[in-house]
Amino acid sequence: MSDSPSVAAELQAVGDRVRERFQSDRRVLSFAEYLELFGTNPDRYARDATRFVRDAFDHYGSEEVRYPWGTYTRWKLFDLPFERQETASPLVGQEHVQEEIYRALSNFAREGKANRVVLLHGPNGSAKSTIVGCILRALENFSQCDNGAMYRFYWVFPVQNVTRGPLGFGGDGRSSLHASYAHLPPDQLETKIAVELRDHPLHLLPIAERSAFLKRFPFREPPNRWLAEGELSHKSRQIFEALLAAYRGDFLEVLKHVQVERWFVSRRYRTGAVTLGPQLSVDASERQVTMDRSLASLPASLQAVSLYEVRGDLVDAGGGVLEFSDLLKRPLDAFKYLQLAVESQEVPLGAQNIPLNVVMMGSANELHLDAFREHPEFPSFRGRMDLIRSGYLLSWHQEKKIYDAQIAPQVTRHVAPHATELAALFAVLTRMRKPKVPASLAQGAAKAEDVPTALVAALNELTALEKADLYATGTPPGRFDDDVRKRLRSNLKSLFFEWESDTVYEGRIGASPRELRTVILDAAQHDGYKCLSPLAVLEELEALSARRAEFEWLQVEPLPGGYHDIPGFLGALRERLLASYVDEAYAASGLIEEASYEELFDRYVQNVGAWVKKERIRNRITGDYEEPDEAMMREVERLLGARNGAEEFRRHTIATIAAWAIDHPGQKIEPTVVFPDALRAMKEAIFQGLLSKVALIVRDVAMLVREGGDGMDVARKAAATAMISRLSARYGYCPHCAADLASQLVRTRLRDHLPS
Ligand SMILES: [Zn+2]
Repeated sequence: MSDSPSVAAELQAVGDRVRERFQSDRRVLSFAEYLELFGTNPDRYARDATRFVRDAFDHYGSEEVRYPWGTYTRWKLFDLPFERQETASPLVGQEHVQEEIYRALSNFAREGKANRVVLLHGPNGSAKSTIVGCILRALENFSQCDNGAMYRFYWVFPVQNVTRGPLGFGGDGRSSLHASYAHLPPDQLETKIAVELRDHPLHLLPIAERSAFLKRFPFREPPNRWLAEGELSHKSRQIFEALLAAYRGDFLEVLKHVQVERWFVSRRYRTGAVTLGPQLSVDASERQVTMDRSLASLPASLQAVSLYEVRGDLVDAGGGVLEFSDLLKRPLDAFKYLQLAVESQEVPLGAQNIPLNVVMMGSANELHLDAFREHPEFPSFRGRMDLIRSGYLLSWHQEKKIYDAQIAPQVTRHVAPHATELAALFAVLTRMRKPKVPASLAQGAAKAEDVPTALVAALNELTALEKADLYATGTPPGRFDDDVRKRLRSNLKSLFFEWESDTVYEGRIGASPRELRTVILDAAQHDGYKCLSPLAVLEELEALSARRAEFEWLQVEPLPGGYHDIPGFLGALRERLLASYVDEAYAASGLIEEASYEELFDRYVQNVGAWVKKERIRNRITGDYEEPDEAMMREVERLLGARNGAEEFRRHTIATIAAWAIDHPGQKIEPTVVFPDALRAMKEAIFQGLLSKVALIVRDVAMLVREGGDGMDVARKAAATAMISRLSARYGYCPHCAADLASQLVRTRLRDHLPS
């Protein structure tokens, strides 16, 4: 076995590394060593649960994120930077929820106690448990960082021969400060008694002396009551008193029995991070420790004492977070217990009251919360809760990120372009509420009547699809005039929040990501396609939409503008998919390069600029100054269908650029950004002349992939192959979904352009 020595050497090396880490983590300390450590970073080591959780947020930091509806603080712990990014599923969006949680935690830290339950409420599947899950994972990681180190202590009793005399009791003179049993090897420790409540080591110092000790340090944030005035838990107190009596008041001798140890948050071992399902009632209990062999060897003075061991979720979660999933599914008695505990910050048991040092968070769905609000005792509970709303996402860009990150990786087939996008857009469409104009838009205007009538009209006309796009992109529909578009943009935030105070807020009712998960996974099994096709997603959405009795969002009365109009959504999605297919087929046809009409439009804008100012323009190739190119400008205007005559159209173009520049100071003027619709119209116009050529290549793509291209000559095969490669390189198609696109277009949009 030639391998054996190296395996042994490897094991030795592993052993060395583990020992080094163990020692460098300073896991086990005597009390005196702990005090020295405390002095090196008093703020870090003075944390209670509230500060520990808040500081975990600060530890990973935050960044500003901008959305069309506002600017928010994103707390990076929700990106799970400490996990392997390929498998982590970070929280998408929900920054306002993050901000609210941080605010609640900061309040707790300031008040020195978590005297309310942080209750996230929202519809089913709105990321509530993901949010708490991210926090718990961050706590685990934070507790392993130097900055997040936390310590507890054990009582240790050495075997007889170590201490000369009967377990060191009876004493042989005064002891030195640094003598301690903390570092004795395990075989020299007779007994090690855990303190389940994880008392802070400083709780061993009497309050007056502790206060004097704490005054030595320049805290950034003064220690809170838990640290400054908290007392030893019942069990520790009893051991402490018994030892003090045995040592006739020699406090330092008592401290020799203290072994301080670093502890780590762990969800698996339910340490500082505990999640309770709805079926479980929250609990803590105590039981008298039986006189087993190890306790029988304790000094006589301790044997006479009844030691109680406490246990339960409140105990396990100590120092961290206790999460109640579906809090309001529990019977009311469960909350009464909780309410009293939160109010008094302690839980009464038979022999003792146990102090709470835990942040409680919970989740509840809106139906349960609605029912709870009706309860006569709700007002008294209300004061003990921080209600934080977590609704569904309203931006389909964000919704798509969830599907791409969390659902698409489970699909074994190729995920075709637009598949998750359509699912996301559908979900968001079902959540849209019709604007309640003009009341909500009085922002900036003194009275509702002051809201410009044009804006009111636009909001009345705004369709569900346009609203969804406005939220996702911040770009108002092109069909409105510039002034209205500008007003829509500047009122976007109030539009986004106009239903905020309504019981049925926007983002409460609608399809949940869970339903869409099923849709996507079912679509990925569709027999008709080799990829996860958006066409299969559409079919599954249709099937989902037929299950009217099961979902509230399918029962909402449709409103003008297409709100809650499920068949309308499906039609709009199909239209949008075909429009994208057409665009992509154009661009991948090789007949004209995308860049060339952007360039053409760019040249148009420059020429018009010169024309308006009556200037000459520099020819890029010859370098000569020439008159603006009248023929080119006319051609572009023809393509754009300029109805109001060339002159007005040109002045309008320049005015639009000037207005855009004022709204976007310092940004480069890109015609594609300033005139997306004009550009699109121009593209369409150019392609109108090329449709039959595009149609032939598209048909060949389907024939080549599906039938091997029998009967196609070399040139046709080459053109079709080139289109497939462009579809793949630019948009992520594989040959199969490229053929799906092609056959769909041949049957619909391009049908009339093919020779019969
Ligand atoms: Zn594919």
